Amino acid sequence: MHNYRYIVYVFIGILSIFCAQAGAKKIYAVEASMLARTIEQVLVENNVQNKVEVIHCKVEDICPSNVEKVDIIVSEWMGFYLVHEGMLDSVLYARDNFLREDGLLFPSVAKLYASPCQLPSMYEFWDDVYGVSMRKVKSEKPEILLLNRNDLLAEGKLLAWLDLNCVSMEEINLLGGEDYVSVCEKDGKFQGICIWFTVEFPDGSELSTGPCNEATHWKQTAIVLPTDIEVLQHQPVAFKLTFEKDALNSRCYNIKLILLDAEEIEHDIPCNCHMTKCIVTKTYIESQSNEESV
Ligand SMILES: [Zn+2]
Repeated sequence: MHNYRYIVYVFIGILSIFCAQAGAKKIYAVEASMLARTIEQVLVENNVQNKVEVIHCKVEDICPSNVEKVDIIVSEWMGFYLVHEGMLDSVLYARDNFLREDGLLFPSVAKLYASPCQLPSMYEFWDDVYGVSMRKVKSEKPEILLLNRNDLLAEGKLLAWLDLNCVSMEEINLLGGEDYVSVCEKDGKFQGICIWFTVEFPDGSELSTGPCNEATHWKQTAIVLPTDIEVLQHQPVAFKLTFEKDALNSRCYNIKLILLDAEEIEHDIPCNCHMTKCIVTKTYIESQSNEESV
C-alpha cells in the first residue's frame, strides 16, 4: 500500500466500485490510459466485474450508436482552481452524447470563488532567498497551497456558477471576467487573491475546497501580488479576474488579474464598505426594512 502508483490506480477504479456497491445495474468505466487494465483487476478483487464494463479509450472516441444511454454520469473531472488541467470538456461531451434526457450528473453544479488574502509564507520566504528578493519571479504563476483561514481578508466572491446540466462548451471558454468588489473583514496585508471551488451533487451534498473547509488535494490557488497593500477593516478591494481557455491547450486556462480602483466601479447593494455612498445606501435600506417590519 505504500506504492504510490498502486494507490492512484485504486482511486481511479474506485468510482465504478462505489457505483456498483450503491446498486447500479450496469456501469461503463471509461479510461483512456493503460490504467484501464489495472482497473479490471481491481474490479475482480472487489467482485463487481460483472457489473462494470471498462472502455479503454477517450470518451470522445466512443461511437454513440455503440453504447446505450445512461441514467447517471459520475466524474471526478476537477483540476486545480476547478478548470486547470481538468476534464470538463469530456464530461460535457459525455453528457451531450450518452446521458438520457432526464439523467443526472454527479456533480451537477460547480462554483468558483475568489477572495483577497494574506500570503505570509510567500512573502517571508521569497523576500529573502539567500539575501535576494525573488518575489517578482515567483509571482508570475499561480501558487497551489493551503491557506490559513485567518489569512482570508473577505468572504469569497462568486466568479462562476456552472450548471453542468446545461452549460455549453463555449460558456466555459471564459470564466469570471467581471469587476468584483470585496470588502475586507479585518485589518491586514493584501498580498494576493485566493481561489477555490465547490461542487454540488443532485442529492444536495457539497464538496468545498475553500480555506475554511477540510483540506483536499486541490488545496487552494493563490495569485501573489508583486507588492503588498495595507488594508483596513471595511476597506473595499476591487479587482477583475479572468480565466480564459488556452487557444493551444484546451485543458489549460490563462488567469489574468487586474486590480481596480474601488471608487470607480459599482459596489454590491447593500455594501459593507466604508465609502460614504455605501454607508448612506445601506442605512437607507435598513431604515426602509425597519419601517416595513413596524
Ligand atoms: Zn462599498
